[in-house]
Amino acid sequence: MNILVIGGGPAGLFFSIIAKRAVPAATIEVREQNPEGVTYGWGVAFSESAAGALRPAAPDVIDALTAGIRHDRMVLSLDGADVPVQVGRSHLNARWSLLATLERIAVEAGVRIEHESEAAVTESELARWDLVLGADGVNSRTREHFAEHFLPSVELGSNWLAWYGTRKPYPPSIILRNSEYGVLMAHASGFSAEMSNFTVEVGQETFDRLGFADLAEDESRALCERLFADSLAGAPLRSNHSPWFRTKFVSCARWTHRNLALIGDALHTVHPSVGSGTRFAMRDAVYLTEALAGARWDVEVGLKEFERVRKPVADAFQAAAKRSIAWYEGLPSRTITHPTKFAIEYLMRTGRVSYRDFRRENRDVVLGYERDLR
Ligand SMILES: Cc1cc2nc3c(=O)[nH]c(=O)nc-3n(C[C@H](O)[C@H](O)[C@H](O)COP(=O)(O)OP(=O)(O)OC[C@H]3O[C@@H](n4cnc5c(N)ncnc54)[C@H](O)[C@@H]3O)c2cc1C
Repeated sequence: MNILVIGGGPAGLFFSIIAKRAVPAATIEVREQNPEGVTYGWGVAFSESAAGALRPAAPDVIDALTAGIRHDRMVLSLDGADVPVQVGRSHLNARWSLLATLERIAVEAGVRIEHESEAAVTESELARWDLVLGADGVNSRTREHFAEHFLPSVELGSNWLAWYGTRKPYPPSIILRNSEYGVLMAHASGFSAEMSNFTVEVGQETFDRLGFADLAEDESRALCERLFADSLAGAPLRSNHSPWFRTKFVSCARWTHRNLALIGDALHTVHPSVGSGTRFAMRDAVYLTEALAGARWDVEVGLKEFERVRKPVADAFQAAAKRSIAWYEGLPSRTITHPTKFAIEYLMRTGRVSYRDFRRENRDVVLGYERDLR
């Protein structure tokens, strides 16, 4: 069996590992456009529940991805007032370490990885492979090339984000500032002993008032340092291909075409604010491998089964992500003044945590808030 995987991100690499282990005789080739060790962004979170769901597929891989920094608490900070809360455990990795780990294990399993190889499959080339996977991320050219078959929908978010890093150690934190320019938000989280994420998010009006559209990447970074100076306490922000961007919410009406399937962000996205895109992508890989194995690697049958079984689960997860996006995109037009109310709203925003759950985990926080309301 010959398999071509376009894109060496978490989806493509994890699929390659588990598929090669399932069918050692298969030839699996991953084509990745970036040079080895080069990627965008900083650290990505991996929840304990995500690790639990993925571990049976490749225990050694998940052990390697959960061996680093972990957090059990987060801080919601409104205008300098911090509310620490208990949350489910999350594991963090630098994105480049996560990819290096996956790549090392894939190569050990016998997968062939070609870097600086920009793939663009056409209809006629599909016939050269038994299976082709478009795992080429949110801006997937595979999805665009075969758009008439996948029928994608791509919705642009209304907020602007820039993904920076900083040396200041942060627990997972949401930092909200009501400023003269409007609401300023940052998502921070330590992902190694030395580095934290610091993703800045603002609504369109604040983006315009601050003139970010006319600033170079370095000027934007310097302005964000000043806007969040009280939180950063002098620590500089750092860039890693960190331009302003608006999130794309991707979904596809159809998931496969002939022997071609999309997985990961190429197929469907969640949102950075739910911190789950990596595991969402890796779960696609597991569902796909299981569906193909269940069909004894009959690609046509396996791909249909993949869509039938995975789609309802993925749709439910995307619906939760949509609620998170709506909450974030609503923030710029609101004024939140109570730090605990902010914390409660934040944790309940996707509908997956109830007030009762939050109250059980964070009794003191909630009792203080309920006292304030009386
Ligand atoms: C600000 C921000 C914060 C985030 N934080 C988190 C987090 O905390 N936790 C989490 O789980 N997720 C997070 N995510 C989401 C996560 O990064 C993605 O959901 C995840 O990487 C998707 O994996 P993927 O393999 O589908 O795509 P990608 O990781 O994007 O990989 C796709 C790969 O394909 C390659 N490629 C593209 N086109 C071609 C081509 N034509 N030929 C060859 N190669 C190609 C790209 O170079 C890339 O390496 C965050 C995202 C953002 C933007």
